[in-house]
Amino acid sequence: MKLLTVVGARPQFIKVATVSRIIAQTPGISEKIIHTGQHFDANMSSIFFSELGIPEPTHNLEVMGGSHGAMTGRMMEKLETVMLAEKPDGVLIYGDTNSTLAGALVAVKLHIPLFHVEAGLRSFNRAMPEEINRIVSDQLSEQLFCPTRLSISNLQKEGITKGVHHVGDVMYDATLFASESARAQSDILDQIGVEDGDYLLCTLHRAENTDDEQRFRKVITFLEEAATDRVMVFPVHPRTKQVMQKYGITPKGIKLIDPVGYFDIHRLLAGTVGVYTDSGGLQKEAYFHKAPCVTLRDETEWVETIESGWNRLWTSEDYRTSRLNITDYGEGESARKIFDILVSLS
Ligand code: UDP
Repeated sequence: MKLLTVVGARPQFIKVATVSRIIAQTPGISEKIIHTGQHFDANMSSIFFSELGIPEPTHNLEVMGGSHGAMTGRMMEKLETVMLAEKPDGVLIYGDTNSTLAGALVAVKLHIPLFHVEAGLRSFNRAMPEEINRIVSDQLSEQLFCPTRLSISNLQKEGITKGVHHVGDVMYDATLFASESARAQSDILDQIGVEDGDYLLCTLHRAENTDDEQRFRKVITFLEEAATDRVMVFPVHPRTKQVMQKYGITPKGIKLIDPVGYFDIHRLLAGTVGVYTDSGGLQKEAYFHKAPCVTLRDETEWVETIESGWNRLWTSEDYRTSRLNITDYGEGESARKIFDILVSLS
């Protein structure tokens, strides 16, 4: 079986590592990784390949920047050439980025079976570019690997019931892989001068927060208030950095640092007393590290984190319940389940 995997953005490198590691150890099934180039800075891309042992991409399409339409279109054109040449038995896509969407559209138009990891998530906010990417990718996929029970029922409501599997969350697999190395190898706390149990961690990058100046200023003020009693560490996403420069905003009382690698972010997660984020991945990683989270969005597709009392939206005053365990995400065997299903198709 010959698989072709399309990735392009930071969260995809982390997810892909879990499945690719298993494929690489198995004779009879091969994988080629295509990097669209969506994220290209070393600390947004290559560091994840080296830390997580992801095979080098066989193609880098170098499609970076531009509007959603231009970016997706350029990716599609280049992906089509690659897929026509490679003739894979299946295309694997991850998550909800423009790279996911481009991979999905090109594969189905060439009649190549499409497999979507992290299928069925819905925020029910169609103003989010990620939501559109999810809906289209799920409609087109032949096998849909869902992280939660709710994602299965979201798909059911859209009439998608065939090839749907609840496999748990590959991000938990990734967290288990990274946590030990993070403790052993990362010196990020010393580097930035913070101590375990004495800081907050923040990330912010979603278009819904960065694209509108008023909204962006409101979120920054909220973070400044949260950081009055305790140091807040904020690895700044390149898009957010640009926006801060454009609006002339320097958050007060917050430690701004460059984006960090996967071991460093897990070291920061292990020592933090609370997470403020609009990232899908970080909301769950906060739970994996048993750190309470405040989500800087008006809704979330990871509703289990809210229902279990570990997460709250910034618009709500308090956490919903006493803190419960979430069983949906599995025990770190999601990538293995995905792999076994892929193999059963060959
Ligand atoms: N992350 C990282 N370094 C950072 C910030 C985030 O490695 O400086 C990781 C984070 O732990 C999570 C992933 O990047 O696993 C999330 O990516 P992002 O927030 O860009 O995307 P989303 O999860 O919202 O799709």
